[in-house]
Amino acid sequence: MAVSSIEELIDALKRLPGIGPKAAQRMTYQLLTTEKEEALRLGNALLNAVEKVRRCPRCNNLTDKEVCSYCASTQREDSQLCVVETVADMMVIEQSLSWNGRYFILMGRLSPLNGIGPNELEFRHLLDRASEPEVKEVVIATSFTAEGEATALAISELLKKYLPQLKVTRIAKGIPAGAELEYTDVNTVAQAMLNRRIRENL
Ligand SMILES: [Zn+2]
Repeated sequence: MAVSSIEELIDALKRLPGIGPKAAQRMTYQLLTTEKEEALRLGNALLNAVEKVRRCPRCNNLTDKEVCSYCASTQREDSQLCVVETVADMMVIEQSLSWNGRYFILMGRLSPLNGIGPNELEFRHLLDRASEPEVKEVVIATSFTAEGEATALAISELLKKYLPQLKVTRIAKGIPAGAELEYTDVNTVAQAMLNRRIRENL
């Protein structure tokens, strides 16, 4: 049986993070009954963004420019590179106002059970980016979950092996074990950034 266009929309919406089947249904009926103009605006904005937005070749952030605004900015410190798992994590650090260096987004974390190893993440790209001569410090800001910690360890070993001259630090453990950066309040993130430690001293 063919899926109706209403069911298709509900199904697409409920795949989004934080939206359950009930909310997806409510949104769909609201968009299609009372807010037709808003619905078209949303549809056009989505089409437009999907067409224009891509990954920044320097850091993997989303952008509709050649490189993203964080990489293009001349106000940021070139010597410091902060490694995060996702764009959402980068945004939290940005909101904490504790970082004025550059970023690198791994696009996830090591998760052997889900088949995500070093080759599935952007380790090679990170190594290239971190080997640029102006980079002096790499701050590892992966989450404090078991997988995030394993990812931090793997990155620090990789950097030590190929780029031993780099200072490699990890944001401090003011962030509770098991925590996702994305859901941590900005003051805690700012403290963790300020108290970052050299890997050996952990
Ligand atoms: Zn970028």
